[in-house]
Amino acid sequence: MRLTNIAPTPELQALDAAHHMHPFTANTALGRKGARIITRAQGVRLTDSDGVELIDGMAGLWCVNIGYGREELAEAAARQMRELPYYNTFFQTSHVPALQLAARLAELAPGDLNHVFFACSGSEANDTNIRMVRHYWALKGKPERRVIISRRNGYHGSTMGGGSLGGMAAMHAQGGLPIPDIVHIDQPYWWGEGGEMTAEEFGLARARQLEAKILELGPENVAAFIAEPVQGAGGVIIPPDSYWPEVQRIVDQYGILLIADEVITGFGRLGHWFGVQSYGIRPHIMTIAKGLSSGYQPIGGSIICDEVAGVIGRDEFNHGYTYSGHPVAAAVALENLRILEEERIIERVRDDVAPYLARAWGSLADHPLVGEAVSRGMMASVALTPDKAARARFVTEPGTVGYICREYSFANNLVMRHVGDRMIIAPPLVITRDDIDELVRRARLTLDQTHDHLRREGMLQAAA
Ligand SMILES: *Cc1c(COP(=O)(O)O)cnc(C)c1O
Repeated sequence: MRLTNIAPTPELQALDAAHHMHPFTANTALGRKGARIITRAQGVRLTDSDGVELIDGMAGLWCVNIGYGREELAEAAARQMRELPYYNTFFQTSHVPALQLAARLAELAPGDLNHVFFACSGSEANDTNIRMVRHYWALKGKPERRVIISRRNGYHGSTMGGGSLGGMAAMHAQGGLPIPDIVHIDQPYWWGEGGEMTAEEFGLARARQLEAKILELGPENVAAFIAEPVQGAGGVIIPPDSYWPEVQRIVDQYGILLIADEVITGFGRLGHWFGVQSYGIRPHIMTIAKGLSSGYQPIGGSIICDEVAGVIGRDEFNHGYTYSGHPVAAAVALENLRILEEERIIERVRDDVAPYLARAWGSLADHPLVGEAVSRGMMASVALTPDKAARARFVTEPGTVGYICREYSFANNLVMRHVGDRMIIAPPLVITRDDIDELVRRARLTLDQTHDHLRREGMLQAAA
């Protein structure tokens, strides 16, 4: 008997509904409907408690880069648990998995990003970053450099700090976010917000909002700018090519720190070890998590440049997590990095599967419901629209149509996610060409069914 087959699906669903509160979920409604219970997985496929197989177009939550079912990672965890299941690194001790992983990350990271502070998630790592950049400036005798600039519709996690850095209005509306001294500028989302500008003009304009905000606040008050190389949870928003070079010019000119949130784009998703390498960006700090362990263990962290680490190191930094650099998680991450390297998974993304995905996914652009079909590396999205030429939004509340589309996708045994009325995928990096074809076939079927549904219900109407 498998671990999870302890009861028939309805019983599992009833227990789940009665006691388990799901993240980012209207729990009462889900409880009535019943969650789909995933019991095992292999490669790019999940199996549910009824034995039905799904293609996981989201690699879990953007994290299972090497795919499911790798024995080597299970072995690495078991070995480490037997040898040293836990020890901390707070009080003048270290252990081999943490120091080895830090050294390996320093090797892989570009430039002089040579120092790693471990956390257990991306959110925690961004909380670390907030405290670290402010403390850095305080130690430099500039304590007034406290403000961190971020972007609307960016995602940086769900803790008080991470959620504040993020620019998700729905999150800010609950629980007293954002915390002080975090301000947001607009995102480089050309299809949705670019109006009459060309993508290149728009990319420059949105980058220059950063300059305008720095000048408005006074450069002497700004600590850092944080952004994802490609926005993930915001809907796989790929910036115009003009955007990042201009942002780099601005952070250089005003001497503010640049934090690249690589939680999704790190570890191969864009065809390089890190997304910044694919854009030629030079950050002072990178946030990492997700693909670091391919999701097999919860681990994240910050990779920090020589200058910032050197200054922070002058004093006791009063910060850390019980599980910072957890030996089992670190051992699993090391094994994951070994597999990514030895199996040349990232080169394969760059040279083969990402270009293949770009063509296959891009073919959806001819669908009547699709305004744009874009990808970068192994992240892709389509914008749903009632009127392609006008790049129009639906008259219904944003997310209504996306949710309908998502329901069809799930019924077609394809995990696609919706963000508002964009549909997104980020499959495991090990996906094959055949599985990409099958994924896109199911996505097209899903779009057809959604289109029929909208026609039937009279919902193909553009907002004024
Ligand atoms: C998922 C994510 C986070 C938060 O990571 P958690 O491990 O969920 O806390 C932060 N930044 C980005 C870009 C993410 O996608």
